[in-house]
Amino acid sequence: MVASICQELLVMYGGSIVEHGDVATVFDSPRHPYTAGLRASTVLESTDGSGRLSTIPGRVPSLGSFPGGCVYRNRCPRADDVCRTVPLLTAPPGSTQRAACHHPIESDQPLGSGKASA
Ligand code: SF4
Repeated sequence: MVASICQELLVMYGGSIVEHGDVATVFDSPRHPYTAGLRASTVLESTDGSGRLSTIPGRVPSLGSFPGGCVYRNRCPRADDVCRTVPLLTAPPGSTQRAACHHPIESDQPLGSGKASA
């Protein structure tokens, strides 16, 4: 539904914008692991044959309990020590698709690169 009515998309986690771009690009090639996890959790993408939807492991922290640095750090499959610092919302050269991530997913990586299994 979002893709059919929007031109631009802002993805938020923990009160922070984690990804921004035109809706088709963000849906087709998410750069932020959280966006990729959301995308992989849809009925269309959860096709491992089990009949179960993929989920993002862990829980959203309660207000005031988010980790320092990247707000998604405690749930992210790509997290490392550099993620203890706040990532800026940036786009690669020649792109307007911005992601707040120290280790964004590159366009040639499969969608599942940012997803964790159920
Ligand atoms: S900055 Fe690190 S923890 Fe945050 S989304 Fe990117 S890889 Fe994951």
